[in-house]
Amino acid sequence: MKIEQNYSLEKHNTFHIPVKTRWFMEYDSEDDLERILRDEYFQECLSLHIGSGSNLLFLNDYNGIILHSNIKGIHLAGETEKSVLLRVGAAEKWDDVVAYAVSNGWGGIENLSLIPGETGAAAIQNIGAYGAEAKDVIETVEAYNQLSFQKRIFTNQECEYAYRTSYFKNEHNDPHIITYVNLRLQKNPQFSINYGNLKEELAKYPGITLSTIREAIITIRKEKLPDPEIMGNAGSFFMNPVITTDHFEKLKVNYPSIPSYPSSDGKIKVPAGWLIEQCGFKGKSHGTVGVYEKQALVLVNLGDARGHEIALVAESIRTAVNERFGIELVPEVKYVG
Ligand SMILES: Cc1cc2nc3c(=O)[nH]c(=O)nc-3n(C[C@H](O)[C@H](O)[C@H](O)COP(=O)(O)OP(=O)(O)OC[C@H]3O[C@@H](n4cnc5c(N)ncnc54)[C@H](O)[C@@H]3O)c2cc1C
Repeated sequence: MKIEQNYSLEKHNTFHIPVKTRWFMEYDSEDDLERILRDEYFQECLSLHIGSGSNLLFLNDYNGIILHSNIKGIHLAGETEKSVLLRVGAAEKWDDVVAYAVSNGWGGIENLSLIPGETGAAAIQNIGAYGAEAKDVIETVEAYNQLSFQKRIFTNQECEYAYRTSYFKNEHNDPHIITYVNLRLQKNPQFSINYGNLKEELAKYPGITLSTIREAIITIRKEKLPDPEIMGNAGSFFMNPVITTDHFEKLKVNYPSIPSYPSSDGKIKVPAGWLIEQCGFKGKSHGTVGVYEKQALVLVNLGDARGHEIALVAESIRTAVNERFGIELVPEVKYVG
């Protein structure tokens, strides 16, 4: 187990904000984790479990304990004629799992290629892209209750998945720490390529296979999104808002080109990036904080931005979108501090 005091989190968040945490603890096994959870000092302290910090915005130094898992490994936990079950350690990089699955010919997560972050967080966030979501392949999630210290295996249904959310993000539930995620992947997968410009990009490849889908998605994403190693960012800063059909029809009168997608609850999903672009933010910079020139949904650290500066720009975007469209944008990024 690794324990550090006054530890810099600059490399542990993709905005690269140089905040410090009072304590940083990284455990290697479920036994170690249980020992930490039962420790009285730990229980008295403020604590937060992080993955790669690709969905976090640190506003201040963290006056508590930042926990991080080092439980890795991808194991074949089951196999049928049609599918495999992979048991993946929460600290395993999500994209390494995708690469591993694709190289073995197992389908279901290829559309989720190149999403930053760890597998434990993927199961919390219900990550999604190109028409696929983590919930489509998650069979069970293994987690420790932070209050009772009991381990529980959540079925997919018990995870209460919905758009970018789950049981684990609901603050009314006991906090849980995910240690393993079990993924059901298909040996003869159905490809899903009718999303965005994926089909167009795939036309440049010799055929449609798991590998070419992965390659095409990586190419599109690299073209569209800034690499956090070069320009600090946390991907989509806001969730795409879901509005009523009435509200949408009213907006359509003034904005006939407003893009939309049907939402599963009979409502309408509107791309937040389009709303932000209409308000004139795209490509603009505000001191050391920028709104990415190719995708207005992404806020970028242009130099040495601090968390509260990024939060301020986010707030002015929220206000402008609300005043113009009557739509309340909700951050997808989690504010800490
Ligand atoms: C360039 C870029 C592109 C992105 N594209 C997408 C995309 O296409 N689709 C998408 O859905 N997201 C996308 N994201 C957002 C991000 O990659 C996901 O939200 C990812 O799942 C976060 O993983 P992480 O390991 O960095 O988690 P963190 O940001 O460290 O944490 C996220 C949340 O999970 C909790 N957490 C982390 N690990 C555990 C654990 N083991 N147990 C309990 N709680 C835990 C944290 O407390 C926090 O609440 C993108 C981000 C970037 C920077």
